[in-house]
Amino acid sequence: MALLIVFFIQIKWIFRAASIKEELFNEKAKIVLAKTVEALSSDKDACGSVNAGMEKKATDKIDSLFDYYMKVYNIKIDYVYELKHGFLLASNNIETATSLLPTQQRCYKQNVSGLDNMELRLIFPDKVQYIVAEMGTSFISSVLLIFIVLFLSWQTIFSLLKEKRLAEQTTDFITNMTHELKTPLTNIGLAGKMLLRENTIVQTEKVRHYSTIILDENEKLGRQVDEVLGMSALERGEMPLRFETTNLHTIIEEAIRSFSLATESQQAKLMSDLAASNPMVSGDRTHLKHVVGNLLDNAIKYAQGTPDILIRTYNKDDQIFLSVQDHGLGIEKKFHKKIFEKFFRVPTGDRHDVKGFGLGLCYVKKITELHNASIEVDSEKNKGTTFIIGFANV
Ligand code: ADP
Repeated sequence: MALLIVFFIQIKWIFRAASIKEELFNEKAKIVLAKTVEALSSDKDACGSVNAGMEKKATDKIDSLFDYYMKVYNIKIDYVYELKHGFLLASNNIETATSLLPTQQRCYKQNVSGLDNMELRLIFPDKVQYIVAEMGTSFISSVLLIFIVLFLSWQTIFSLLKEKRLAEQTTDFITNMTHELKTPLTNIGLAGKMLLRENTIVQTEKVRHYSTIILDENEKLGRQVDEVLGMSALERGEMPLRFETTNLHTIIEEAIRSFSLATESQQAKLMSDLAASNPMVSGDRTHLKHVVGNLLDNAIKYAQGTPDILIRTYNKDDQIFLSVQDHGLGIEKKFHKKIFEKFFRVPTGDRHDVKGFGLGLCYVKKITELHNASIEVDSEKNKGTTFIIGFANV
């Protein structure tokens, strides 16, 4: 649309410039004619020649006057003039003069008072071409500019569409690949649990240890797969939320339970202080559990030494607040907004000891937004981080 508007404005300006040029030309042509008529009227000798029918003398005089004033007013174009008194009396080009229509826009006329009110006409047969040529450079540059803009816009739209298609293909590929990981993950999880069952096989300390590692890693990988799948499904709008009145405390407890293996293996300290007297919110249980899970996962991942985490809830102004506090690596203030962006990870130089896709907090933010909840981060480098989410109570 913007391009079309630019296009029409440009065309309008070209026509406007042409009409200004024409007006200017008309003014100059009228002045040249007026000056010639004035000089002719005051020249008794020339008037006498015309009246006596001495055509050659008359045309020479008129010719020289026109030539002179054309030069003065800088009109460099062929012209035809006619001196008329009912019939054509004199002209510098009889053939052209008779074939031209006097009513045309390129004709200027004035009566010569000293010549018994004869009419002197000045005609420019190539006026239109002259005006177009005069505005040649600006006309050509305008047209060129229009074509450049059209070409560049076409290129931009084309590469945008190409990029969009590529991005869609990449997302499709990642989604399919991650989806394929789900079945083996479930099977590994089941096998790990079987190994841990006391009555299935003879339990040694080693078997128990390795089974715990398998289950722990399986749980971690499962969460990451869910993260990628959940994010792309949310973006495509394929995952509508199912809102129901639900107890936030139950959700938190479930999330904590699913982390029991991870906390056990890292001897993490995970405390909860669920002090809110009204824990009821309207929300989607599965997604809310994932939100709490993501925050807990980060608190463990970005710990310094043994993780030390506190989950609290409290009521304030018809709202329930959930806070997840850790004493880990912390986040510099300049990254506080960016951590919620898709794929963003706080730069750590060459060290990449903590793995992740940079999707977790983006997902958390999206889900909190869909619940009309607020999310805040309070963090200081090397001191720790607290995420606070505020839901409306029901
Ligand atoms: P991921 O953990 O997969 O990298 P997230 O979206 O969950 O992605 O987090 C984005 C970034 O925010 C992380 O890379 C990390 O640098 C920082 N971050 C998130 N939570 C914490 C936390 N509790 N402590 C310190 N840094 C954190």
